[in-house]
Amino acid sequence: MSTAPLLEVRNVWQRFGGLVANSDVSLSVVPGEIVGLIGPNGAGKSTLFNVIAGLRAPTEGSVWFDGKDVTKLTAPQRCALGIGRTFQVVKSFESMTVADNVIVGALVRTSSTREARKKAEEVLEFAGLGHRSDVFANELTPPEKRRLEVARALATEPKLLLLDEVMTGLTPSEARAGVDLVRAVRDKGVAVLMVEHVMEIVMPLVDRAVVLNLGAVLAQGLPKDVVRDERVINAYLGE
Ligand code: ADP
Ligand code: MG
Repeated sequence: MSTAPLLEVRNVWQRFGGLVANSDVSLSVVPGEIVGLIGPNGAGKSTLFNVIAGLRAPTEGSVWFDGKDVTKLTAPQRCALGIGRTFQVVKSFESMTVADNVIVGALVRTSSTREARKKAEEVLEFAGLGHRSDVFANELTPPEKRRLEVARALATEPKLLLLDEVMTGLTPSEARAGVDLVRAVRDKGVAVLMVEHVMEIVMPLVDRAVVLNLGAVLAQGLPKDVVRDERVINAYLGE
C-alpha cells in the first residue's frame, strides 16, 4: 500500500544573484508524518520553507500539495488549501490578546466571529494556553509565544503544519514540552514539516529527516540512519 504524498517539493532551485540557496531540492511529506528538515546555519532551510509556504517563488522547480501544483499560488491561497505555518509574533499582534491572535487564524475558515472564538478557545486549550487567553500577547513568556504561534496556525485547520525553529532558545524542559505538543499535533492527524537546527531535539521526534547542506539535500531517511551518516556528521562538525 502506498500513501499519496501530501506535500511534494520537486527539483526546487532558489538563486539570490550568484548565491544558490536551494539546489535541486526534492522532498515529500505523507499524511500523518513528522518530517524534520535539518542542516547547519545557512543550509537553505528557511528559504525552502518560504518556497513551500508561498512567500517566495522558486527560481526553478515546483511545489505540490494534495495532488495540486501550488507553485503559483499565494501564501493565503495555500493556507486555505491546508498549509499552515508559524509566524514570528509581529508587533501589531503583540498589542492584541492571545485569544484575538488566534481568532485571526480561525477567521480563515469561518466568517462567524462566534465560531472563530469557539475555535480559538479549543486550540488554545490544546496548546496549553487556555489560561492565558485574555492577556496581551506581549505579556507571554518566550515559550508561550511559540505556543501561541502554533495555536494560531492550528486555528487555520491545516493538513500540514510548517514549523520553523520553534524550539530555538527554549530550555531543555521547555523544548521537551514543545516536543510533546508537536506529537499531539500529529496525533490530531496533522502532518508536520519542522525546520530545526538542533539535531538532539528533532531526531527523537521525527519519522524521517531530510538534511540540507549548502542548499542541497545531503541525506534523507530514518533518523537513526541519518545521524550515523558520515556526510551529515562532517557537515555539522564543519560549523
Ligand atoms: P537556514 O535557514 O538553513 O539557516 P537560509 O535559507 O536562511 O538558511 O539561507 C540560505 C542562504 O541564502 C544563506 O547564505 C543566506 O544568506 C542566503 N539568503 C537567504 N535569504 C536571502 C535573500 N533574501 N537574499 C539573499 N540571500 C539570501
Ligand atoms: Mg533559518
